[in-house]
Amino acid sequence: MPSYKTKAVVLKTYKLGEADKIVKLFSPDHGIIDSISKGSRKIKSKFLGTLELYNFLELEISQGKNLDIITQASILKIFSNISKDFNKFLFCQLISDIVLKTHFKNDENNTQIFKLIYFCFNEIDKVNSFVEIEKCALFFISKFLKILGYLPNLNNCSLCKIQIGSADNTNAAKIANKDININKNIDLTPLINVNSVGNKFKSNFIYFSIKFGGFICNKCTFHLKQDYESKFLLNQEEFLLIKMLFKRDLNTLKEINFTDRSLNKLVRLLQDYLKYHLDINLNITPYIEGLKL
Ligand SMILES: [Zn+2]
Repeated sequence: MPSYKTKAVVLKTYKLGEADKIVKLFSPDHGIIDSISKGSRKIKSKFLGTLELYNFLELEISQGKNLDIITQASILKIFSNISKDFNKFLFCQLISDIVLKTHFKNDENNTQIFKLIYFCFNEIDKVNSFVEIEKCALFFISKFLKILGYLPNLNNCSLCKIQIGSADNTNAAKIANKDININKNIDLTPLINVNSVGNKFKSNFIYFSIKFGGFICNKCTFHLKQDYESKFLLNQEEFLLIKMLFKRDLNTLKEINFTDRSLNKLVRLLQDYLKYHLDINLNITPYIEGLKL
């Protein structure tokens, strides 16, 4: 049987029979690999403690008919805090599910996705608070969409292509369009004070259309039919947050104060977006809402 060597991260495992394990891997060279490790659950197995969730490994694999067979595995990196913290573990599971449910069209993005998984697992391993873990997961989703070419329209109306804010020449629009340059520890609250923004930003809200893949200007909102198009009405905080999520690095994101309400809306928006554009059916809300106790 032909064999190959590769690096990979363990995204999912299932027990099989008495001692075997099905291992779903993601590799920069091969994308998703469905493999089996024979006898790996025996106490004396050479794989014991190696083929565990979220470990990064160096592997030797034989090509099989249905499943490839892992013949050698050594550890490159273990994120030891992830298995000790329920929330960290679950958000890594969310990231794994998103990757495993994606129907990759080509493999030119695999290396970038592999690096992104590593970066986010490493961050989740390091951070301390629930909100920081949550932000790492949202950061993963935004960058994952970007790598796969599904970046939403953030500067222009998704329908008429007018620059968002050029007709609505308000503070919020100006802030959003100047490639947000914010200082550390900034609280967004002053930016969303209605009095400071003026009333040209119609009703202080803007639509984001899942179907059309981004913001919709005030003039085009009549195209959004209530019944069948998923759309989100965003206030200015949410409008700025989504722009920052897609445009900023994780450190900037960590330093911005989110309200729970905005965060939850952003999660629902990303969840619908993943479903519509990538056919990834995942209920992300329980991760955000159910684990804070
Ligand atoms: Zn428009």
